Amino acid sequence: SLKGKSAVVTGSTSGIGLGIARALAAEGADLMLNGFGDPAEIKALQDGLSAEFGVRVGYHGADMSKPDQIADLIATAGRELGKVDILVNNAGIQHVAPVDAFPAERWDAVIAINLSAVFHGISAALPGMKERGWGRIINIASVHGLVASVNKSAYVAAKHGVIGLTKVTALETAETGVTCNAICPGWVLTPLVQKQIDALAAARGVGVDEAARELVGEKQPSKSFVTPDQLGALAVFLCSDAASNMRGAALAMDGGWTAQ
Ligand code: NAD
Repeated sequence: SLKGKSAVVTGSTSGIGLGIARALAAEGADLMLNGFGDPAEIKALQDGLSAEFGVRVGYHGADMSKPDQIADLIATAGRELGKVDILVNNAGIQHVAPVDAFPAERWDAVIAINLSAVFHGISAALPGMKERGWGRIINIASVHGLVASVNKSAYVAAKHGVIGLTKVTALETAETGVTCNAICPGWVLTPLVQKQIDALAAARGVGVDEAARELVGEKQPSKSFVTPDQLGALAVFLCSDAASNMRGAALAMDGGWTAQ
């Protein structure tokens, strides 16, 4: 059980982050949600999670491309929930273009949100974890932290960077009760991927269902999407005592993608 623990999950108003937040709340953890979205929908999400699982659910709208707002997110969570025991660095964006046509502004945004934000979150949350002698840092990398695909230079560079940062953080905390690991999902059907399916459907002149099958089938041997719930269960395991000596691992949950 994670009763008495509190968790910050970045980018938890949607997709994988929301799945992980739900799974942690189901174990009794108090939450600080983060991410963009309609204020009324976010409020309903907070109230719904709080009612369903009997936990405290706060929200902070930090833009993860802004280091000072990330520091404020961690400080606010510490103040409102008492401490930050679990940090899930999940917020992320994608941009697809060949490297020699990749807008520099998109490169900067992907690196800021997918990589630098992980550094800023860790540096803000780790001192308190070390002081209390317990912590879990879970970085949502990707199969693209392990292998590459065309047209994703910024994303692949950022996710490889996240895995490197995960390893260094794990080594620096190896003799403490704080662990740091990365999760590497394959395709998960979230708004981030729906955009890529819609683009493929438009390019091929086919329906979205056919485009989704083609997208998953190309790389993912299972031919089925990984789900936010499955990733939530893995995050819960990483928070357990059984995982206290998993350190610096990059755990693939990818339908076989990186086994090929
Ligand atoms: P999503 O688009 O459904 O959710 C992204 C979340 O991040 C949202 O809550 C959004 O509001 C938030 N966000 C985006 N930019 C932000 C910013 N600047 N500041 C604060 N919040 C911001 O995407 P997802 O698919 O759930 O992706 C979550 C993570 O999982 C990302 O790091 C992504 O790279 C990774 N991932 C996704 C897949 C997949 O197939 N969907 C696969 C591997 C890894």
